[in-house]
Amino acid sequence: MNCPHCATKILAGQEACAVCGFTAAAIRAYLGSDWVKLERITDNSQRLSLRDTRHLEVVLDDFERRFPQCFIASYLGALPETLTLPDLGFWLINHGAFQTRQISRRNDFGILLIVDPLRQDACFTVGYALESVLTDAVLMSILKKLNRPLAKGNVASVIEDAVRQIEAVLKKVARKERRHDEHPPAVVADATDLGLHTLRPPSRPLLHANRPD
Ligand SMILES: [Zn+2]
Repeated sequence: MNCPHCATKILAGQEACAVCGFTAAAIRAYLGSDWVKLERITDNSQRLSLRDTRHLEVVLDDFERRFPQCFIASYLGALPETLTLPDLGFWLINHGAFQTRQISRRNDFGILLIVDPLRQDACFTVGYALESVLTDAVLMSILKKLNRPLAKGNVASVIEDAVRQIEAVLKKVARKERRHDEHPPAVVADATDLGLHTLRPPSRPLLHANRPD
């Protein structure tokens, strides 16, 4: 994961950015250290119609079926001036209990899209396990393609276009991996095999305990 302030790589478990000194504790001090329960689409900006939301749910369901260990979630809202999009993304991927179709999905396989319609800005935060696939360069090129719907204020298109673009990238990677099948596909590897730690606490928050699926 990248430092939300200077974009230097921060490794799993590392508390502070080696370059600028940013600490996860600084954001926790601002936003708290509780786990927050989030739908896959949290529209705090109220820009999405019910129809948009339903359609996007279907788009996200399709994505999760195609890429069973990953999920995409989106937060829409006008952020206070003191909070940057990458800051919120960093905090949410560490503190968000996302209501995905299967609760077994872990945040290190999560892709979070934060959209601030007022700033006409968007940002991705991806979990540790996806960083080698969804690199900074890949994400930047996707964000560039989102500029047009973002400028028009069409947030439903911003989210749908983002999902389609990410699908295209993951499909390409999966095809490449199949050709070199001595390497297991990166997107279906278990994070623990890679020496990565899950971002969710070992015991699931109680609020999920009886969640039917
Ligand atoms: Zn930094």
